Amino acid sequence: MAFLIDGKKISSQIKDELKNEVAEMKKKGTEVTLAVIQVGNDPASSVYVGNKKKACAYIGIRSLAYELPESTTEMELLTLIDKLNNRKDVNGILVQLPVPAHINEKHIIEAIHPLKDVDGFHPRNVGALVTGEDGFVSCTPAGIIQLLKRSNIDIDGKECVVVGRSNIVGKPMAILLLRENATVTICHSHTKDLKEVCKRADILVAAIGKPKFFNREYIKEGAVVIDVGIHRNEQNKLCGDVDRDDVMDLVSAITPVPGGVGPMTIAMLMYNCVEAVRLQKTER
Ligand code: NDP
Repeated sequence: MAFLIDGKKISSQIKDELKNEVAEMKKKGTEVTLAVIQVGNDPASSVYVGNKKKACAYIGIRSLAYELPESTTEMELLTLIDKLNNRKDVNGILVQLPVPAHINEKHIIEAIHPLKDVDGFHPRNVGALVTGEDGFVSCTPAGIIQLLKRSNIDIDGKECVVVGRSNIVGKPMAILLLRENATVTICHSHTKDLKEVCKRADILVAAIGKPKFFNREYIKEGAVVIDVGIHRNEQNKLCGDVDRDDVMDLVSAITPVPGGVGPMTIAMLMYNCVEAVRLQKTER
């Protein structure tokens, strides 16, 4: 029977470790502060922002909330980011994506100071990830590495297949697995014989955004499956990119949806906020 990788439990462990660390920092007079900016009131974004604020409160990170109207111009948003970049008491800046269509997302990502870019989306941090230097790593793939390590799943020398090549999940995931000495293949919508490639995987990371796409035909017996996808069906139930019921008897371990990768993303965002203080100390 497959081992369920418990993202809820592992994310709680990480948050508790951070809580202790933040308390120690406070004793030494350092407060960790995250500025969270939301433009408009997309309901899904409001839920994500609410969860981030809750996690900050739990860990003891001060959060500053900026709820800006949908009509906010790119210039107004850039001006706020510039102000926060220059505030010594702000360690991390997060702009909840997506921003409204009239604002260029790339301009916003690039405007955040790389040392405050706790989402790890700035090209400087992406470059640091590739070259193995210090910097912020995108939270979802960083969380997946923690899930594997804290579940004692060996990555070194393993055949890993990442399906999806987005800047926030697929590409950084592949680089992180490479850093752990895996042999990595990245697949996407142009990949030929996807089933055959996936069947080679000791560790398969499914991140394409298609509900229950990966059935047993894609899975090697004994594989570890990481399901990044998150979808809500008509009955309001959540599912992933993997058809879990179909593959359960085949895999050695799998992340559930919900309760697998999802909770790790916020835990790693909190990790990055604490890391921001360390990076800012060494750089200044
Ligand atoms: P994107 O839509 O940005 O990227 C999807 C990727 O999947 C693309 O590279 C695309 O290929 C590839 N793809 C799509 N269809 C196929 C197919 N049939 N065969 C092979 N490859 C395919 O998605 P994200 O990376 O942002 O997110 C992926 C999923 O993960 C989503 O369900 C999202 O909701 C979820 N997610 C979950 C998070 C969490 O915290 N749990 C965090 C972030 C995302 P191509 O490049 O060729 O178009």
